[in-house]
Amino acid sequence: MVRLAFYPGSFDPVTFGHLDIIARAARIVDKLVLGVGTHHGKDPMLSTKDRLALLERATSSIGAQAGVKIVVVTFDDLVVDAARRAGAGLIIRGLRDATDFDYEVQMGQMNAALAPDIETIFMAANPATRMISSSLVKQIARMGGDIGPFVPREAIPIVAEAMKKPG
Ligand code: ADP
Repeated sequence: MVRLAFYPGSFDPVTFGHLDIIARAARIVDKLVLGVGTHHGKDPMLSTKDRLALLERATSSIGAQAGVKIVVVTFDDLVVDAARRAGAGLIIRGLRDATDFDYEVQMGQMNAALAPDIETIFMAANPATRMISSSLVKQIARMGGDIGPFVPREAIPIVAEAMKKPG
């Protein structure tokens, strides 16, 4: 049996927190599909193209190291539909704190009602990267702070470029 998992998120931008979850998930599955959500009604800082390219670059060595195929896709529909399209029987989500827990478990249960054949696996955040959130990374970048401790190196120029754009 091939274990295929779908890890959805905004990845705006991808952080060391996401990468920790991805590396740990890669140890328990045969193939990992990363889903960049393009809907949400959220107004992302980075374009879909940038978020996808960054995730691909930041995860290529993780896949090679774990011997697991990691592919990145975009989706703008239900997570369970995107997971099914990817052929995944598992959805991966990360839990940082009680706020994540309440929201993620509720969403996982609603997804289970929609798609009983797909199991959500919750991974507790690594204490070293637990405090990182993409939204705080964006705030720090907007105020001219150093985002180097929170995101992979290749994200830094892309975020800096996005900061220059109006809006
Ligand atoms: P979303 O908009 O779906 O919440 P995010 O990119 O913010 O997208 O998060 C995607 C997933 O990664 C979520 O399950 C979130 O809880 C998890 N996550 C985000 N940051 C971290 C972190 N620092 N450590 C562990 N998990 C995280």
